[in-house]
Amino acid sequence: MLKVVRCPHCQVKVSWEYNPNRPFCSERCQTIDLGAWAEGKYCISGEEFDQESKSENGDDEEGSP
Ligand SMILES: [Zn+2]
Repeated sequence: MLKVVRCPHCQVKVSWEYNPNRPFCSERCQTIDLGAWAEGKYCISGEEFDQESKSENGDDEEGSP
């Protein structure tokens, strides 16, 4: 009796026993899913705050002597 699992990324059914990329169906799904997970972990917050500091790009320098 083969154990079958679903790929966390594309939900396809794959054999657990003979799957080197388990629980994923393929190396591609593994890379994509782990990559997305790692990216999401690093973009929890802080991206939007970056926009405010962009205003100091220097249009007209009023304070220049
Ligand atoms: Zn997959």
